Amino acid sequence: MNEHKKTDDIILDDIIETDEEEMDKTHLPVIVIREFMPFPGAMMSFDINRPQSLAALDAALEIGCDVLLVGQRDRDLENPTSADLCHMGVITSILQVLRLPMSGMARVITHGDNRGVVVEYLGEDPYITAHVEGLYDAEPDTYTKDAKALMRLAFDNFTQCMEMQGKNAPESITRISEEMPGRLADIIASNIRMKPEQAQELLEELDVMERLRKVVGILTYELELLKIQRGLFDKVRANVDKNQRDYILREQLKAIHTELGDADNVDDDVQSYRKKLEELPIPAAVKDKLNQEIKRLKQSGFSAEASVQRDYIERVLALPWGVKSKENTNLIHAEEVLEKDHYGLTKVKERVMEFLAVRQTASDLDAPILCLVGPPGVGKTSVAKSVARALDRKYVRMSLGGVRDEAEIRGHRKTYVGAMPGRIMEAVNQSGTMNPLILLDEIDKMTSDFRGDPGSALLEVLDAEQNSGFRDHYIEIPFNLSDVLFICTANQTDTIPPALRDRLEMIPLNSYSENEKLHIAIEFLIPKQLKKHGLKKSQVKMQPAVIEDIIRLYTREAGVRQLERMMAQIYRKVVKILLTEGCKSITVNKDNLEKFLGKLKFRKDTKDDKPEVGVCRGLAWTSVGGDTLSIEVNTIKGSGKFKLTGNIGKVMEESAHAAMSYIRSRHEQLSIRKGFFKDTDIHIHIPEGATPKDGPSAGITMATAMISALTDIPVSNQVAMTGEITIRGRVLPIGGLKEKILAAKNAGIHKVLLPLENESDLSEINQEIKEGLDFILVKTMDEVLSHALER
Ligand code: ADP
Repeated sequence: MNEHKKTDDIILDDIIETDEEEMDKTHLPVIVIREFMPFPGAMMSFDINRPQSLAALDAALEIGCDVLLVGQRDRDLENPTSADLCHMGVITSILQVLRLPMSGMARVITHGDNRGVVVEYLGEDPYITAHVEGLYDAEPDTYTKDAKALMRLAFDNFTQCMEMQGKNAPESITRISEEMPGRLADIIASNIRMKPEQAQELLEELDVMERLRKVVGILTYELELLKIQRGLFDKVRANVDKNQRDYILREQLKAIHTELGDADNVDDDVQSYRKKLEELPIPAAVKDKLNQEIKRLKQSGFSAEASVQRDYIERVLALPWGVKSKENTNLIHAEEVLEKDHYGLTKVKERVMEFLAVRQTASDLDAPILCLVGPPGVGKTSVAKSVARALDRKYVRMSLGGVRDEAEIRGHRKTYVGAMPGRIMEAVNQSGTMNPLILLDEIDKMTSDFRGDPGSALLEVLDAEQNSGFRDHYIEIPFNLSDVLFICTANQTDTIPPALRDRLEMIPLNSYSENEKLHIAIEFLIPKQLKKHGLKKSQVKMQPAVIEDIIRLYTREAGVRQLERMMAQIYRKVVKILLTEGCKSITVNKDNLEKFLGKLKFRKDTKDDKPEVGVCRGLAWTSVGGDTLSIEVNTIKGSGKFKLTGNIGKVMEESAHAAMSYIRSRHEQLSIRKGFFKDTDIHIHIPEGATPKDGPSAGITMATAMISALTDIPVSNQVAMTGEITIRGRVLPIGGLKEKILAAKNAGIHKVLLPLENESDLSEINQEIKEGLDFILVKTMDEVLSHALER
């Protein structure tokens, strides 16, 4: 039999009354079903085509009795015998039979009356008969609250389930929902999807509450599935709706644009792009690629991609293809420009001139990249600007400080939302020529992280062998950067990525002395600021001594940037006074300086009043120039602890330990008590704890201060020193000599102890700076002590 369930959700409203006496213990023909399970109370339509089942149907019709619908245990069996059948089925009335003449099949409409348990199967031929006992649900008169709650839950879930499927719940269910849990379970079971085994289990469950509980379980599961299904459906529908909506809107937009004549605009744009492209002096392959892009723009009409496309084409066409400024190769002119723009910087100017000369003779491939290294405000940017001016090249500054993403150098691929070309292409574009001077500022402040290494991208940019075909990710088309002159600047060299550092020719720019600052102020900064503020020289009178005070008391820097700012501040106030008070000129002097610049910003660094025990003055290099460091040591009775304070770095700490090691090994010669390190706590402090300090150059200073404290011999207040110490007491060379000497001079110290190995550096320092100072070059700690301690 090949049943096919048609009206599995039809429930007979009025449950057909059965004659219990007549139905009990009756012999009934059996129709075996395979795919579904009928339940008492449900009306059903299905087809019968197995001969045995057709014979059973005929017999039932002839006798006028019901049939037992029963499931087969193994659904794959084609011709099951009574042994293969379940023992619980449904006693069913045949309501209607429709014969299908061609196939011999019968379509029946039945109504399930009640459960029937097979007492025994009686015969198989021509149809299966069974001795069947009818079973009725024992529905109690009253129910507990739990039972009622369960019934209500079943009812609610069922109606919700039907609603979600767009079906109507059978009306009878409302009536039976609170009084016949068994029937409620049967009706729900006949209306929801479940496996045949589950259905058979429900049929065999005679405890009505348990049956209902099981049904609720299946129902809840079904409901969950329906909800998920509904969610998926909604999502798919929303997608389809959106696509459809977009499509309609776009079509409407197209119609509107056509109506307004904008469609012609696209054509016009495409025309003008093509024309511009024709005129560009670029290789044919590049032209083809751009032509394709223009064609694509035409096709994409008014879509979102079209604006991206348009942006791209416009950016590429706007690049200065083939445009070059004529370079001025006259070296005398270059020298004049450099000289005219800057005071001092003799060595720097010399190196730059050499660089410019060699560029003219050597091939481009060998030319190094200049990197101007020095503290802020010493004129790095300004030298680069002068070089551009000297060569008549356009100048663009590109700050690399904080750049950590390769894409910032090379751009993002077009497919990114909001993609743009990288900074190199932007700079080229900004200059409007293919041979500008691009200043890569603060190359040492670039960092690399997971987003890629900007250093390696930059390396490619600077590499003469590769940069003739530089490919920006956004532009995609190779661009020739070989005519660009790159100059870099950095505050220090050790944070420049090593591979990049190798390509650079470093030109150091040092701090300025007070005198140099004074010259720069008088010859450059003041004229510049006067002009900027629309003032004449005669309107502001300022003596050099006042400028010196400004330098000393209002700035603390290696360069002259702060000084320039102070000058600007004075002139702003001067302009205001001239206009409001109607006077002809103003004199800025020591007495009224505070009126212009406010309270003094810095105290003057001075030497100590008298020699002291455990205090020694060192010299330090900082990013804003040089400074003196007064190192203090206390010795206290204790257990040999060694403590360092004052925000000092690891190298400085190690240097202190080296000094300690030296002192312990030489305690006898130094007249220090044996075993001092066991019962004496030593505390080294370097004041101005807010400023981090590091480096080995305070080694001899710390050692001197400690020895002084341990021997009770004062250190001369006329001495300042710098030098690295080894554990055997040798003095090693240090860096930043010029800044350190300037710091000593500013503090009014005349005797400076320096490592002997720095002798050649010392000879390079301007005589003007060295004037009035007594330099003592030392090789060992013994020499240091002989000059520093006041025995
Ligand atoms: P950096 O790039 O080293 O930080 P800048 O080049 O911006 O410093 O210099 C700051 C200001 O000081 C600029 O106005 C510059 O012209 C001026 N300046 C620096 N050094 C000199 C100098 N030797 N001669 C004339 N002006 C200078």
